[in-house]
Amino acid sequence: MINTAIFLGAGASKAEGAPLQGELFRDYFSSNHFRSSNDSMDRELATFFMLMFGIDVDNGDILNTNFPTFEEVLGLTDLAILRKESFRNFDIENRATNSGRLRFIAQYLVFLVAKVLDSKLQLSKNIHGKLVRNLKNADALKNVTFISTNYDILIDNVLTELYNENIDLDYGIEFRNFERHGDWKRPRREFQVSLFKPHGSLNWLFCPTCNELEITPKEKGVVTRLISDFTQASCPECQSIYMPLIVPPTFYKDLNNAFLSSIWNQTDKALRKVDHIVFCGYSFPDADIHIKYLLKRAQTNRNNRNTLKFTVINNFKEKLPMVRDEEEYRYKRFLGPAVNYSSLSFEQFADNPMAVIR
Ligand SMILES: [Zn+2]
Repeated sequence: MINTAIFLGAGASKAEGAPLQGELFRDYFSSNHFRSSNDSMDRELATFFMLMFGIDVDNGDILNTNFPTFEEVLGLTDLAILRKESFRNFDIENRATNSGRLRFIAQYLVFLVAKVLDSKLQLSKNIHGKLVRNLKNADALKNVTFISTNYDILIDNVLTELYNENIDLDYGIEFRNFERHGDWKRPRREFQVSLFKPHGSLNWLFCPTCNELEITPKEKGVVTRLISDFTQASCPECQSIYMPLIVPPTFYKDLNNAFLSSIWNQTDKALRKVDHIVFCGYSFPDADIHIKYLLKRAQTNRNNRNTLKFTVINNFKEKLPMVRDEEEYRYKRFLGPAVNYSSLSFEQFADNPMAVIR
């Protein structure tokens, strides 16, 4: 059997009911949670949107407000922190009155996303579950590597559940949980299925002092949890506040986190060894040059570049022909005419993955 990489983009999560980038803030600020909240995170976010975007999330007409995208807002805070610059009222330095306010905003924004996804994905359609189940039944799981640019944990939880069937989820990095009795265990080499998330994941918490990563505890012993309930969590070793570990794709230049750079290297290595890459719900956006870089390396850093096949699965009912054509064009101009741009939806692929990967 050939080795396959299944690449999961935003469209795969959208098929399960996840909001797109531009809908995240509207969903959050119109939620009952926010409406009844008085916690410091929500108050800070309200002030931030008022001062930076002139949006009154407490009293405004949320459903008719044009919000910036998550990427735009996180891009602003991350770029300011990287450049050691401030915005008026939001500094990054340790001044007596207003210490590092922008860093907290950056973290609150990520927790906000976790909270939105947590409520939206309770009722997912379990397409990821069908996909993995069908691969397992065909005994194909051991020849598949998953790569996800999504922050949510849809595929993570489906793979975590296989623990009881002797299959270990391997993120390609070490978690401090591995050292604890009765917690997550280091995956066993012969039973592992790899899931590489080069943009990070919303079930990981990072201690910047210990430089260690913690994965959220399993719930009912089977599935992992989003960090939405861990906004105040601190490191048990040094009491530093835990940080989320998320990098928006448009901001991928900041690759100095050791964990993300290790995942990057393993993704690179894995892609060079596969014979077929199946893109699910990935629109091949112009901004994702770092993903294109990995793909081009996978295609050219092998003896015969024609041995790597590509299949695109990104169709859905309301998709406009023009959007479809442009997407096909983007794939083919970069990866060549051999890209199999299929008319399948993610759901159809999940129902019968062996028809595609064989
Ligand atoms: Zn620590």
